[in-house]
Amino acid sequence: MAMSSKTSAATDVTVLGAGAAGVAAAVVAARSGCRVIVIDNGSVPGGQYFRGAATETSSAVNSRPADLSYAELRIEFDRLVASGAIDYRARWTAYAASIDDAGFVIRLRGDDRHRSEIDAVTSAAVVVATGAFDRQLPFPGWDLPGVMSGGGAQSLAKGDDVVPGRRVVVAGTGPFLLAVSSTLLDHGASVPAIVEANHPARMMTQTSGLRGGLGKTGELIGYARQLVRHRVPYLRRHRVIEAIGVDRVDAVRIARIDADWRVIPGSERVVECDALAVGYGFIAQTDLAGQLGAAMALGADGGLVVDVDDDLATSVAGLFAAGETTGVGGVEAARVEGLLAGASVADYLGRPPALTSRGLDVVRRDVAMWQGFADALHTTFPVRDGWRGQVRSDTLVCRCEEVDAGQVREAIDDLGARDTRAVKLFTRAGMGWCQGRVCGSAVDSLCGFGTTQSLGGAATRPLAVPVPLGALANDQMEG
Ligand SMILES: Cc1cc2nc3c(=O)[nH]c(=O)nc-3n(C[C@H](O)[C@H](O)[C@H](O)COP(=O)(O)OP(=O)(O)OC[C@H]3O[C@@H](n4cnc5c(N)ncnc54)[C@H](O)[C@@H]3O)c2cc1C
Repeated sequence: MAMSSKTSAATDVTVLGAGAAGVAAAVVAARSGCRVIVIDNGSVPGGQYFRGAATETSSAVNSRPADLSYAELRIEFDRLVASGAIDYRARWTAYAASIDDAGFVIRLRGDDRHRSEIDAVTSAAVVVATGAFDRQLPFPGWDLPGVMSGGGAQSLAKGDDVVPGRRVVVAGTGPFLLAVSSTLLDHGASVPAIVEANHPARMMTQTSGLRGGLGKTGELIGYARQLVRHRVPYLRRHRVIEAIGVDRVDAVRIARIDADWRVIPGSERVVECDALAVGYGFIAQTDLAGQLGAAMALGADGGLVVDVDDDLATSVAGLFAAGETTGVGGVEAARVEGLLAGASVADYLGRPPALTSRGLDVVRRDVAMWQGFADALHTTFPVRDGWRGQVRSDTLVCRCEEVDAGQVREAIDDLGARDTRAVKLFTRAGMGWCQGRVCGSAVDSLCGFGTTQSLGGAATRPLAVPVPLGALANDQMEG
């Protein structure tokens, strides 16, 4: 896409995303003397986990960065923004990224109320820390009002103090279901059931995750106590196989499933509710790194991630990635990866290290520990193929373009599609507003062509988010 534009700033490092990873990377890079711009589409730093959370008061600003908790990093981040060392651009979305003679060029648009505002920044290096979004698997009724992603339900409650219903069933897989349930209970909803497709006891056999797991024990005990206090049933090896309702969901059909997620005949029953929060793990946001030409890899959960080396450098010189973009590993993994990426980008630019060599060793050790924990989680809470058997022909798979599973099967069986791209062209699945973010991995899986299809797919979208055509035209004229 040949586009030119005005450029409001040229700098050393652009950090994309101000979650735990982006904040940590920006602090370490700025402490090394790099001029840093941080782009984030939220109104406050913190990303999915810390957005809106109050920061603790702390005198830690003189501590060594390797030891800083997120709250302490956030205080340091605010201090560096106030001093001008970090140029923090809240409510701006990076919609495209490219490389030219001036370096990395990141194109920005304003937030939802200011989509026509366009800007661009140029830098010698980039850290991509854009996080992840919920993985959705289609099932009959998932398009009914009242059915939403676990992350969506949590953002509503955390960000706006609104719950999606009085009785919210929470379903899918992974410990995130506990976090969502806890948030909903804290905000006054009841949870008739948590429906977990896997068996968490398997985690006990995962030695790679032991050390990270021990660090999470307190959090888990807190959730367990809360669930017992509110008498929330925690159903293992169960799935929601249908959301039932006319104008909106008023019940869900659940069933016991085997280890491959096939329904055990005769185990179905109905649970009444007025909302369903559902999610099957997360998918890394790789679009911007993909536009810059970074190689991709398949993460431990089978999803597409940015391929990085031990320093978190991508295959493109000067481009680094941290946090969920390199593999979905939780907030602590994101924080320590951010520290490492900040140190690596400063080193790439020839700046003095902000971390001592001992501090860097500690960070590398922590990165390895949290990656081990993430691997253990993915082994314990995988997505099994049996879910495909619960998708009926009339189940919508691409909600934007209203494509059902029958049309996808027809494209393969009758029209001869032999890869996911052909299926997309025949059916328009993935061509709508979300550009395959919601349906892409599910359609890939339903097609059953194997994982290699994914490597070239989502990574090459020319626009990371929708941009008004008028704004693009202005961008062209102002260049
Ligand atoms: C919806 C959701 C809810 C979660 N809730 C929990 C929880 O309750 N408990 C828990 O332990 N873990 C939770 N997680 C996981 C946890 O949030 C992550 O492990 C952690 O936040 C990862 O940090 P990060 O910095 O990699 O990404 P994030 O925290 O996701 O930060 C990425 C930032 O980049 C911004 N961004 C993305 N794309 C662009 C763009 N194109 N332009 C500008 N900005 C952009 C995002 O808005 C975000 O602010 C949740 C994850 C998600 C997706």
